Amino acid sequence: MGRRSKALLTEMRTQRILRARARQRLKPPWECPICGQMTVDYIKRQGVIFVFCQRCREGEVMPLLKGYQPIDYYNYYVDACRTRMGKADVEPPVWKLPKMSERQFQILKKRITYGKLLRGEES
Ligand SMILES: [Zn+2]
Repeated sequence: MGRRSKALLTEMRTQRILRARARQRLKPPWECPICGQMTVDYIKRQGVIFVFCQRCREGEVMPLLKGYQPIDYYNYYVDACRTRMGKADVEPPVWKLPKMSERQFQILKKRITYGKLLRGEES
Protein backbone atom coordinates (compact mmCIF):
# COMPACT_ATOMS: atom_id res chain seq x y z
CA MET A 1 0.00 0.00 0.00
CA GLY A 2 1.34 3.40 -0.96
CA ARG A 3 1.77 6.36 1.25
CA ARG A 4 -1.57 8.03 2.00
CA SER A 5 -2.13 11.67 1.34
CA LYS A 6 -1.77 13.75 4.47
CA ALA A 7 -4.51 16.08 3.26
CA LEU A 8 -6.84 13.11 2.85
CA LEU A 9 -6.04 11.82 6.34
CA THR A 10 -6.68 15.26 7.81
CA GLU A 11 -9.97 15.47 5.91
CA MET A 12 -11.05 12.02 7.14
CA ARG A 13 -10.23 12.98 10.70
CA THR A 14 -12.24 16.21 10.41
CA GLN A 15 -15.23 14.30 9.02
CA ARG A 16 -15.01 11.80 11.87
CA ILE A 17 -15.04 14.60 14.45
CA LEU A 18 -17.96 16.34 12.74
CA ARG A 19 -19.97 13.09 12.66
CA ALA A 20 -19.26 12.49 16.36
CA ARG A 21 -20.39 16.03 17.20
CA ALA A 22 -23.56 15.65 15.13
CA ARG A 23 -24.38 12.41 16.98
CA GLN A 24 -23.73 14.11 20.31
CA ARG A 25 -26.14 16.94 19.47
CA LEU A 26 -28.89 14.39 18.84
CA LYS A 27 -28.74 13.27 22.47
CA PRO A 28 -29.57 15.18 25.64
CA PRO A 29 -28.70 17.05 27.70
CA TRP A 30 -29.39 20.02 25.48
CA GLU A 31 -29.10 23.72 26.18
CA CYS A 32 -32.10 25.38 27.81
CA PRO A 33 -33.17 28.62 26.08
CA ILE A 34 -34.36 30.02 29.43
CA CYS A 35 -31.46 29.40 31.82
CA GLY A 36 -28.75 28.68 29.24
CA GLN A 37 -27.59 25.50 31.00
CA MET A 38 -27.19 22.06 29.45
CA THR A 39 -30.14 20.74 31.43
CA VAL A 40 -32.85 19.84 28.92
CA ASP A 41 -33.86 16.19 28.82
CA TYR A 42 -36.91 14.19 27.74
CA ILE A 43 -39.17 11.37 28.85
CA LYS A 44 -41.32 9.31 26.49
CA ARG A 45 -44.48 7.94 28.01
CA GLN A 46 -47.78 6.58 26.74
CA GLY A 47 -47.77 8.21 23.35
CA VAL A 48 -46.34 11.57 24.43
CA ILE A 49 -42.90 13.07 24.91
CA PHE A 50 -42.17 15.48 27.74
CA VAL A 51 -39.23 17.80 26.99
CA PHE A 52 -38.18 19.71 30.07
CA CYS A 53 -35.44 21.66 31.81
CA GLN A 54 -34.26 20.01 35.01
CA ARG A 55 -33.19 23.39 36.35
CA CYS A 56 -36.11 25.75 35.54
CA ARG A 57 -38.78 23.05 35.75
CA GLU A 58 -40.22 24.27 32.47
CA GLY A 59 -41.40 21.80 29.89
CA GLU A 60 -43.73 20.97 27.04
CA VAL A 61 -45.70 17.81 26.35
CA MET A 62 -46.06 16.84 22.68
CA PRO A 63 -47.47 13.81 20.87
CA LEU A 64 -45.01 11.08 19.88
CA LEU A 65 -45.44 10.74 16.14
CA LYS A 66 -43.69 8.79 13.41
CA GLY A 67 -40.94 10.66 11.67
CA TYR A 68 -39.99 12.82 14.65
CA GLN A 69 -36.83 12.37 16.70
CA PRO A 70 -36.30 13.67 20.25
CA ILE A 71 -34.07 16.43 18.84
CA ASP A 72 -37.05 17.67 16.78
CA TYR A 73 -39.17 17.95 19.91
CA TYR A 74 -36.32 19.75 21.65
CA ASN A 75 -36.32 22.28 18.79
CA TYR A 76 -40.06 22.81 19.33
CA TYR A 77 -39.38 23.31 23.04
CA VAL A 78 -36.85 26.01 22.12
CA ASP A 79 -39.41 27.68 19.82
CA ALA A 80 -42.05 27.59 22.58
CA CYS A 81 -39.72 29.07 25.21
CA ARG A 82 -38.26 31.77 22.96
CA THR A 83 -41.72 32.79 21.74
CA ARG A 84 -42.99 32.98 25.34
CA MET A 85 -39.98 35.12 26.26
CA GLY A 86 -40.68 37.44 23.32
CA LYS A 87 -37.37 36.56 21.64
CA ALA A 88 -39.03 34.86 18.70
CA ASP A 89 -42.44 34.66 17.09
CA VAL A 90 -42.96 31.06 16.03
CA GLU A 91 -46.35 29.56 15.23
CA PRO A 92 -46.95 26.32 17.16
CA PRO A 93 -46.75 23.16 15.04
CA VAL A 94 -49.79 21.23 13.83
CA TRP A 95 -49.56 17.60 14.92
CA LYS A 96 -51.16 15.24 12.43
CA LEU A 97 -52.43 12.38 14.53
CA PRO A 98 -53.20 8.85 13.42
CA LYS A 99 -56.80 7.64 13.54
CA MET A 100 -58.09 7.29 17.07
CA SER A 101 -61.32 7.17 19.03
CA GLU A 102 -62.94 10.33 20.39
CA ARG A 103 -62.03 9.24 23.93
CA GLN A 104 -58.35 8.68 23.03
CA PHE A 105 -58.31 12.05 21.31
CA GLN A 106 -59.77 13.86 24.34
CA ILE A 107 -57.23 12.23 26.67
CA LEU A 108 -54.36 13.25 24.39
CA LYS A 109 -55.74 16.77 24.01
CA LYS A 110 -55.69 17.28 27.78
CA ARG A 111 -52.04 16.25 28.01
CA ILE A 112 -50.54 18.19 25.09
CA THR A 113 -49.18 21.61 26.04
CA TYR A 114 -47.64 22.73 22.75
CA GLY A 115 -48.91 22.66 19.19
CA LYS A 116 -52.32 22.15 17.60
CA LEU A 117 -53.83 18.74 17.15
CA LEU A 118 -55.20 17.57 13.82
CA ARG A 119 -57.10 14.32 13.95
CA GLY A 120 -56.52 11.57 11.43
CA GLU A 121 -59.38 11.31 8.96
CA GLU A 122 -61.68 8.31 9.12
CA SER A 123 -61.61 6.54 5.78
ZN1 LIG B 1 -33.64 25.96 32.03
